[in-house]
Amino acid sequence: MTAIQVLAVASEIYPLVKTGGLADVVGALPLALRDNNVATTTLVPGYPAVMAAIRAAEPQLTIEDLFGCGARVLRSQVADLDLLVLDAPHLFDRPGNPYTGPNGSDWPDNAFRFGALAWVAMQVGLGAIAGYRPDIIHAHDWQAALAMAYLAYQDRRRPATVLTVHNLAYQGQFPADLLQRLRLPPHAFSIDGVESYGNIGFLKAGLQFADRITTVSPTYAREIQISENGCGLDGLLRARSAVLTGIRNGIDVDVWNPETDARIASRFGLATLSARAPNKAALQRRFGLRDEPDRLLCAVISRMAWQKGLDVLADAVPALVARGAQLALLGSGDPELERRFTALAHDHAGQIGCVLGHDEDLAHLVQAGADAILVPSRFEPCGLTQLCAMRYGAVPVVAKVGGLADTVVDLATGIQFYPVTRDALEAALHRTADLWSGRAAWQALQANAMQTDVSWAEPADAFLRLYRGLLTPKN
Ligand code: ADP
Repeated sequence: MTAIQVLAVASEIYPLVKTGGLADVVGALPLALRDNNVATTTLVPGYPAVMAAIRAAEPQLTIEDLFGCGARVLRSQVADLDLLVLDAPHLFDRPGNPYTGPNGSDWPDNAFRFGALAWVAMQVGLGAIAGYRPDIIHAHDWQAALAMAYLAYQDRRRPATVLTVHNLAYQGQFPADLLQRLRLPPHAFSIDGVESYGNIGFLKAGLQFADRITTVSPTYAREIQISENGCGLDGLLRARSAVLTGIRNGIDVDVWNPETDARIASRFGLATLSARAPNKAALQRRFGLRDEPDRLLCAVISRMAWQKGLDVLADAVPALVARGAQLALLGSGDPELERRFTALAHDHAGQIGCVLGHDEDLAHLVQAGADAILVPSRFEPCGLTQLCAMRYGAVPVVAKVGGLADTVVDLATGIQFYPVTRDALEAALHRTADLWSGRAAWQALQANAMQTDVSWAEPADAFLRLYRGLLTPKN
C-alpha cells in the first residue's frame, strides 16, 4: 500500500523551534503517523535555529519574488523528521522569538512572513517541487492557515486540506489594505472569504476553507462553538461543525519516560516509586526550597499568560502557604506575573521558589520531583503539562476546562476544580493536601495516572481515519 503523503505546515517544530505545545505536536505527530503508513513532510520557516540545524540541505525550489526578495525551499532530515525549509532571509533571518522582535512586540511584517509560508505551502501542494505531490496539506494554526485560502482562490486540482487549531485565541489579524500585496484577489475580502471583523483574518480564512478542521481535544471543540469561548469565530465554527472534530494531543513517551530519562536525578517507574524521592530533593534544592521530603510539593510549568490562570494561583498562595505546602514555579511571560511570583518567592523564602525562563531539562526534573502539578487554566485547548505529569506520577490538579477536562479524571488520575476562581482553587488545594496526607489514596492516584495512555497512539489512529476519510472518493 502506498503511503499517504502529507505536507504539514507550521511555524514551530520541536526540537528546532518551540514557544509552546504547537511545536511538540508538530514534531511528534509525523513520527506517530509513520507507523500508520503516513509520510509527513513538514514545511517550516528558515529561522536561524532551523538553518543552523539543517545539514546536507538540497534546494528543491527557487522563488524569484517572495514578497520582496528571492527565496528557496530546501529539503533536509532532522531528528527523523522530513523537512522542507523556507529559506527566506528577508523574512526569517532574525534572532530570538519567531513572532516578536527585541522589544517584545510582533514583527511589523508578520502578515508577509506567515503569508509567505502559506503561499509556498500552496505552491508545493500544487506540485511545484518535481516528484512531490502531497495528498493532503495539514496546516497548523493561523501562521499556516492562509494556505487554505490561497488554494481556494486558484483553479487547479488541489490536495485535500486539514487545519488544526491549537489555540483559537491567536488568529493572525492584519489590515485589510494588505489584501493585494498578500496576492489575494479583491473578492477574497468578504464574509465568505478572508475578511474577519474588518481585517484580514488568517485563521478565519483557514476555518472558512479547510476541508476538515480539528482542534486538540473534544471538549475544546465543543467549547469554541459557544460565544463565551469562540473568540468571535464561534458562529463560523458552528456553521462548520460537521467537519470539526477534537483529537487530543499526545506526548512523546520516549522523551517523557521516567524509567530512562537522563535529565532527572533518579530514574523510577510504577514499581519503583520510592526512587522519585531524590528528584524531589533535587527540585527543592534547585528552587531554593527547604529540603523536606514530607511536605507536599506543588509545581507549575507554564507560559505566564492570562490564559493559564496564574494570577488566580498567586491569589491562592496564602492558603497554600498556610496549609504548609511548597510551590515551585518554572515559567516566563507576562512581566507583571513574573514580578508577582518573584515577590512571593522572596516573601516566603524556602516555601515558594520560582525560576523564570524556558528550560526543557528543568521541566523534566520538575515533573519527576513534584508531588502535584497545578494547571489552573481559564481555558486550555489540550494542555501537555498534565500529560507529562501523569506519566511521571505527579498528580495533576487542573481546571475542568478543554483538554484538561478530557485527559484528567477527578479523583482517579488527578484532581479537577471549576470555576477558575480563588475559592475553587483553594478548595482544590485543600483536597490535594488531604489526599496527600492519606498516603495510600495518593499512591492510588499516582498509579492510575502513570498507567493512563498519554501517548500518540490513539490520536494518531484518529488522524489516520480522518486522512483516509478525505481521500476516499465520494459517490
Ligand atoms: P501552551 O502551548 O499553551 O504553552 P501546553 O501545555 O499545550 O501549553 O504546552 C506547553 C508545553 O511546554 C508543556 O509541555 C509545558 O510543560 C512546557 N513548558 C511551558 N513553559 C515551560 C518552561 N518555562 N520551561 C520548560 N517547559 C515549559
